[in-house]
Amino acid sequence: MKFNNFSEEGDLLGMLTPDVVNFLVKTYAKDQGADLNWAYKRNLEHDDYGIYYYNSETLYVNINSTIKDFDRQVDTILHEIQHHNQNLDWQIKKNRLGIVKGKKLPMNVNLNLLEIWDLHEFWTKTYGYENSPHEVDARVFARSKIDEALNSIIQQELGIPDEGKARIEIEKSRGMHYLLSNIPPDQLEQMKLRITNDFIDYLERDKILDKKEINDLKKNPKMFQQTELFKQFFNQEIKDMIRKKKNK
Ligand SMILES: [Zn+2]
Repeated sequence: MKFNNFSEEGDLLGMLTPDVVNFLVKTYAKDQGADLNWAYKRNLEHDDYGIYYYNSETLYVNINSTIKDFDRQVDTILHEIQHHNQNLDWQIKKNRLGIVKGKKLPMNVNLNLLEIWDLHEFWTKTYGYENSPHEVDARVFARSKIDEALNSIIQQELGIPDEGKARIEIEKSRGMHYLLSNIPPDQLEQMKLRITNDFIDYLERDKILDKKEINDLKKNPKMFQQTELFKQFFNQEIKDMIRKKKNK
């Protein structure tokens, strides 16, 4: 990666942190992002979510149309990464016949000399944007990876609550606003309490612990909040919450 930065100044609360974007690039780009640059931009033409430039091998995410919508940001980044992968594939000339197989081509074209942006432009004109083979491929790729990607991001961002790694609980620097911006700290506390109380209720109702143990637990909810089980519940809740958020 030659550069990976917030190319825009100002408040970027509500955008994925650079390390999250770098993680996606590293995981899903065929070259692990060795030649892929990325940056945020306030505006893109047509108000698109993102764009990839084949020539400069640069991916841009549109701040204005994706801010606070983490699903959309991840989906966009995956989509544009796949255009980069298409670019890398096309650079290997023996792949080209396979890539265009069954698809329309310009008249009398020489595949060896055909640039990928010319091919994609031709496809977009011929099939329309929605049905263009490279767009269909990028959409399918993003759709097939998004759950896995979101899960990985959430696991990494949350860490283990009792080790204090839960970034979601820390609001120290601008770069860490990734999940926080959607979930206010008091809401997080409420959520933890609710998960804990639900679990204590269950232990009490089904008589899994005796009265004394239940009382100990109620006095010290942190005992439960430090367990693997709590972490699982907590992560699941956060995940559900993020997936449901559509506050653009
Ligand atoms: Zn696309």
